[in-house]
Amino acid sequence: PTFPAIRSNPLITSSGGKIPLGLRRKALRVVVTGGAGFVGSHLVDRLVDRGDQVIVVDNFFTGRKENLQRHFGNPNFELIRHDVVEPILLEVDQIYHLACPASPVHYKHNPVKTIKTNVMGTLNMLGLAKRVGARFLLTSTSEVYGDPLEHPQKEEYWGNVNPIGVRSCYDEGKRTAETLTMDYHRGADVEVRIARIFNTYGPRMCIDDGRVVSNFVAQALRKEPMTVYGDGKQTRSFQFVSDLVEGLMRLMEGDHIGPFNLGNPGEFTMLELAEVVKEVIDPNAKIEFHPNTADDPHMRKPDISKAKEKLGWEPKIALKDGLPLMVEDFRQRVFGDRQEKIE
Ligand code: NAD
Ligand code: UDP
Ligand code: UDP
Repeated sequence: PTFPAIRSNPLITSSGGKIPLGLRRKALRVVVTGGAGFVGSHLVDRLVDRGDQVIVVDNFFTGRKENLQRHFGNPNFELIRHDVVEPILLEVDQIYHLACPASPVHYKHNPVKTIKTNVMGTLNMLGLAKRVGARFLLTSTSEVYGDPLEHPQKEEYWGNVNPIGVRSCYDEGKRTAETLTMDYHRGADVEVRIARIFNTYGPRMCIDDGRVVSNFVAQALRKEPMTVYGDGKQTRSFQFVSDLVEGLMRLMEGDHIGPFNLGNPGEFTMLELAEVVKEVIDPNAKIEFHPNTADDPHMRKPDISKAKEKLGWEPKIALKDGLPLMVEDFRQRVFGDRQEKIE
């Protein structure tokens, strides 16, 4: 049998109960923008493994082909070098829109480009969703809460964001992306989903991307001091990437628009994070204090009650269990790099 588009296809609802016995779920055509990046490539692995036809759209600003190597040659996989700031015509059922640099170092590198990616890129993907009747998922961020005055953060909190600071290209860019998403939903009846992602770590992060977990892990492996910015008492909550990917897929397949916080509520100061990295990699690792960057949020921790209740989702992997999985990948890449240099 052939099935109508996703909107009315009962076979792909999360309930599962509606799938008639013996009838296989129809393979979906799914676009993942930013699919060559850290989170995107893990998502692609899951989608390909479940039998979907996956198209990755990426301009390789921070993404790498190596992250997707295992899918090359698979007829269900396609990689398109394309900048989402430019329009694109595709025929698909679902759009996971991840394209956007996520590390502060990367998104501050060319702030105007970051805004274009968030605004024009999201507009183009929503235009595409509207044209073909696809379901659209935006990967927004906990940064929409800015330097939050409420703790932990619930989805109802509107945030405390500096509109003219060095982080604004990302924070305000994502806030506008959320606005566009809701306006396409209300105005053009596009099926949308919004995830607000909290700090996520895992294998395939760029080694020198400036984010705290990747910095500390690479530094400890290289026997360099871990660079703590400010007094190190600011907090973040760190989620392992497989937990995030599970949350994104449940959100896409479920019946709720969101926004949903997707993060691990385990909260750590940067000094505590350094301690965990020491335990996992090198008990003798040293730390070194550096001045902090402007507008750095003082604390961040997700309230995930809504995702628990509506998506039946919560993270499973604690920092002390997730870090070793990332360290293994970093060890190979850090020492692989060194070997190349020696040769
Ligand atoms: P990443 O930098 O590893 O991946 C981003 C990908 O998008 C890269 O492959 C990059 O090349 C691509 N890209 C960037 N600009 C593009 C453009 N104009 N056109 C096409 N492709 C473009 O980052 P990530 O950690 O995988 O983050 C993925 C998404 O999740 C981002 O939207 C980010 O804002 C969001 N997010 C991530 C975190 C986190 O902790 N990792 C937290 C909050 C939100
Ligand atoms: N767009 C796209 N692919 C499509 C459909 C639209 O890239 O398949 C782009 C389109 O070029 C436009 C944006 O998405 O820049 C918004 O499209 P929409 O149709 O909502 O608005 P309009 O084209 O009327 O401005
Ligand atoms: N940070 C740090 N040392 C580093 C990199 C970052 O102490 O080498 C701090 C940074 O000041 C911030 C926290 O770690 O308070 C998280 O920074 P990251 O760039 O990883 O993510 P974000 O600020 O986007 O949450």
